[in-house]
Amino acid sequence: MKVSSNPMPILEVSNVSKFYPPATRAVRDVSVSLDQGEILCLLGPSGCGKTTLLRMIAGLEKPDSGTIRFEGRDIVGVPPHERDFGMMFQDFALFPHKNVRDNIAFGLRMKGLPAGDIASRVQKILDVVELEGLDERAISQLSGGEQQRVALGRALAPGPRLLMLDEPLGALDRALRERLMLDLRAILKRVGMTAVYVTHDQTEAFAVADRLAVMNAGRIEQVGPPQDVHEQPATPFVAQFLGFQNLVRGRVGSSGTIETGIGRFRADVPLPAPGSDIILLIKPAMAGYEARPVSSPTESNAITGVVDAVTFRGRFSQIWVTSSGQRLLFEEAGDPPLTAGDRVTILISPDQLRIYESSL
Ligand code: ADP
Ligand code: MG
Repeated sequence: MKVSSNPMPILEVSNVSKFYPPATRAVRDVSVSLDQGEILCLLGPSGCGKTTLLRMIAGLEKPDSGTIRFEGRDIVGVPPHERDFGMMFQDFALFPHKNVRDNIAFGLRMKGLPAGDIASRVQKILDVVELEGLDERAISQLSGGEQQRVALGRALAPGPRLLMLDEPLGALDRALRERLMLDLRAILKRVGMTAVYVTHDQTEAFAVADRLAVMNAGRIEQVGPPQDVHEQPATPFVAQFLGFQNLVRGRVGSSGTIETGIGRFRADVPLPAPGSDIILLIKPAMAGYEARPVSSPTESNAITGVVDAVTFRGRFSQIWVTSSGQRLLFEEAGDPPLTAGDRVTILISPDQLRIYESSL
């Protein structure tokens, strides 16, 4: 559990909504807060309202309703340039003909700081983003990763009180992103920056965030540390968006069981009233498996099906199984001796099950 030393969050978004005529409810009644030095990731699919929420925090859009407080003060009427917030976008638009130093110095010159202060500040930032020695290089002579660090340095140089990053790695290729997301987090932590980081990529969100806010259709469906969200996805949408494949319709039975088309289950969680329709999430970890043709119909937490495919992923393998027309995905350490066409019974531990009281 994280214990915060300051009693009040630095940023407090309360019940904020934004409607774009004629019919887009881009952000719906969103509340979320941020502590000093914390990195919050807004994670969700394209169009779910991440950028709109960020733009309202930045002051580039006005909420239709709700409040946004920074250090306790309502900032909804405060123009963007008076907020001392920094921004970094996917298209970070560095000045291609200027060198690294001049790009980083840009915001400081705009502020009208004395030349000596600018020089020492730029030197410090070059150190923070690990670009010492490249300060005279033109932007066009840098790699994609170096350019991205210049953009981050430019955003950090004026010492923003809050940094907003909107898909900052979106334009880069996968392999480069994997490394840069870690660099980015390390740099933000090194300077103790409070940041709101927008991405649609769950790997990136998990690598960068102290806390995640998972968004769907203008709403935040869950907020929490990445580990907690992964462990206990709050809704079927969150589970699906994090890549969990096994969501199965079911009904609560009369004796503490969950009845589904692929079998009967017992879970470690409180159940709604008997007869309630539920959605069952079956996490991909198996408690074990047996190659046997038919499972006894009374046995719970055992799924019988046919293996569709086994994909070796290095330290674990993915096993696709079809059971009663439902396609399911399981994982097993190493390289299990299963092949397409095998009939198997997969055993599921009760702690791998989650229940949702909604319909798909
Ligand atoms: P995300 O960043 O998660 O992809 P956005 O916040 O950009 O989502 O968009 C949320 C919704 O609002 C989308 O349906 C988008 O088309 C719509 N939208 C965004 N900006 C505007 C605008 N200026 N005018 C009208 N609709 C907009
Ligand atoms: Mg966006």
